[in-house]
Amino acid sequence: MKKWLFVFVIAFVINADAQDAKMKTFIDGLMKKMTLDEKLGQLNLPGSGDIVTGQASNSDIGKKIKEGKVGGLFNIKSLEKIKAVQKVAVEESRLKIPLIFGMDVIHGYETVFPIPLGLSCSWDMKAIERSAQIAAAEASADGICWTFSPMVDIARDPRWGRIAEGSGEDAYLGSQVAKAMVKGYQGNLTTNRNIMSCVKHYALYGAAEAGRDYNTTDMSLTRMHNEYMPPYKAAVDAGVGSIMASFNDINGIPATANKYLMTDVLRKQWGFKGFVVTDYTGNNEMIAHGMGDLKTVSALALKAGIHMDMVGEGFLSTLKKSLQEGKVTQQEIDNACRLILEAKYKLGLFDNPYKYCDENRAKTEVFTDANRNEARKIAADCFVLLKNQNNALPLKKTGTIALIGPLADNKENMPGTWSVAANFSKATSLLSGIRSVAGDNAKILYAKGSNLDADAAFEGRATMFGKSLKRDDRPAADIITEAVNVANQSDVIVAALGEAAEMTGEASSRTNLNIPDVQIDLLKALLRTGKPVVLVLFTGRPLTIKWENDNVPAILNVWFGGSEAGYAIADVLFGDVNPSGKLTTTWPQNVGQVPLFYNHKNTGRPLSGPWFQKFQSNYLDVSNEPVYPFGFGLGYSSFAYGDLKLSAPSLKGNQTLTASIAITNNGKFDGKEVVQLYIRDLVGTNTRPLKELKGFQKIELKAGETKTVSFSITPNDLKYYYQTNTGNNNLVYDWEAGDFEIMIGGNSRDVKTAKVNWSK
Ligand code: BGC
Repeated sequence: MKKWLFVFVIAFVINADAQDAKMKTFIDGLMKKMTLDEKLGQLNLPGSGDIVTGQASNSDIGKKIKEGKVGGLFNIKSLEKIKAVQKVAVEESRLKIPLIFGMDVIHGYETVFPIPLGLSCSWDMKAIERSAQIAAAEASADGICWTFSPMVDIARDPRWGRIAEGSGEDAYLGSQVAKAMVKGYQGNLTTNRNIMSCVKHYALYGAAEAGRDYNTTDMSLTRMHNEYMPPYKAAVDAGVGSIMASFNDINGIPATANKYLMTDVLRKQWGFKGFVVTDYTGNNEMIAHGMGDLKTVSALALKAGIHMDMVGEGFLSTLKKSLQEGKVTQQEIDNACRLILEAKYKLGLFDNPYKYCDENRAKTEVFTDANRNEARKIAADCFVLLKNQNNALPLKKTGTIALIGPLADNKENMPGTWSVAANFSKATSLLSGIRSVAGDNAKILYAKGSNLDADAAFEGRATMFGKSLKRDDRPAADIITEAVNVANQSDVIVAALGEAAEMTGEASSRTNLNIPDVQIDLLKALLRTGKPVVLVLFTGRPLTIKWENDNVPAILNVWFGGSEAGYAIADVLFGDVNPSGKLTTTWPQNVGQVPLFYNHKNTGRPLSGPWFQKFQSNYLDVSNEPVYPFGFGLGYSSFAYGDLKLSAPSLKGNQTLTASIAITNNGKFDGKEVVQLYIRDLVGTNTRPLKELKGFQKIELKAGETKTVSFSITPNDLKYYYQTNTGNNNLVYDWEAGDFEIMIGGNSRDVKTAKVNWSK
């Protein structure tokens, strides 16, 4: 290490130690003055209740704050309210301890970015970090200092509605996204433009049985640590300030009472120093799980390593009794209280409780043109072009375009699920986006064409708490006929179909992953016109669209792209932006294949040729193949991959392997390509996946240009958690000598492969 760098690092460490010592002295002093009730109050995160409409000081919550019974509040969108409540805490409570204010700022604040599943499809970590930075800047301008994001639950089951909130099925990619988001939100927490992040839902929430939300998870330790835990750990390594426990039961013990997860793994193995909050009533829900009454479960949660109780007030109402009965210790309560106070200290709230309450910033830094422009650009890079037969896209900005579909003229569904702070009336619909981007030389016609679903009751459930699609009560055939008449006047049809925003997200699981039948009837009628049809697909999850893939010339998947999505989709449709998103989930042919994911194992009877083979691992009715594999996405250019070159055929110990490949843009458009590196460990003490993502680079290539892309691979990339098969269940994290396949390609299916031997 250079001398000056050494001096700098030492100075940094000494300074950090001095800061920690200062914080400790301050909190020791404060805690000496606190009563037991006041300590328990810090662990309490009630719902915002009557604060939202009532007067801060006279409300029920206000009264509790004065008594020191509240540690923080969440999901209040009003700087004025937040300021008023903070004033009660720091002027009217005995010890004047400030509150923290949290919110589900999940994919943007008022400037809304694509849903997280969409964002992950950009494979652009700088853009993802930037989206979190902008979200933090806007939220903090409005009084919020803590966000319940990122959600990093790996999900391989698209029936689960919350697959929309994460980064898909892969732990490596999920870890990169987790890091980028935490960095974007928190920075180094020194300015009032950064906020504390809360990674969730620890752990394995995305592995709910049958994709039914809140359902049980039962999983081997090796699968857990290799395939589900890395993103949570990545967030911890990136310095995340807090963690949210998941609702579900994991191997027989709900996460909220799970000592193995909360203490052994999180604190002892990973060295996490922040605090853990339950999910919404997650503590109380352990009564229904069958863990005991409220007093019992609250004690279990505290002892497992939970520090803050969201909404249910079990800690507040029972821990004192449990302490008297010797069921919990004073040290456990003190430890939890200390961690909450430390978070407030690190946020700078003891120095200035109004640090995040700057009216001027609230007026000038939220939903700005600059932020919206960035959101538009980022959204365009998240869309995935799934099919583009005969270059049906991009569209020309001339002639007549018929925009048809229940999602075409609806701004309120554009932001997507968990857009808590969005101003839905300010989002841009696809119709306005297309009109604005196409300009005056194109004529844009519009018809709704169908309801979201034929069944009004289903549509009601699917848009519950969400934004209505204004149901049309005429017979479905009449609505389709009207649309076909409009389509007949056009040169090209753009069909905006799929899910409404709230068909994914919390408690929005589905057993059927089709586009609703009434929309398919519309699509078939549009195809029968003989005009070219482009399907713009709105969804928060992989859908089963095999028929659509076989029959529609072009499909652009646009997720829910945020407040600026209307413009961003139009930018891509007209070719102002060349699409570059790639899927971060596998898209199955039908629900029966689920869970279907790229990094599965081989089995003892893999299919050795084409489907179907009796007594091999496959189905009678469909092949094992997905409709679209993980990592897949097209652009208006195509990229040719040359031969894969390795720096050496065999390596030893800690050497580094370089894998390189030349890539040529052989299309007419400049474009971006996500180059993906996969590795297969051919023989192990435990069976290994067919391939695992180990690296990626998003590169830009001008039309006709060739670039060589290189990846450095070290033994660290070969490590995995395995059981030694010697009779105990302990896990080893290491790499094993042997042969490996190195693969590089533009998706997980189409790769170039080379073999290498790595000895110890
Ligand atoms: C969700 C969390 C969310 C919390 C607070 C819960 O229902 O599971 O993801 O952060 O509510 O709104």
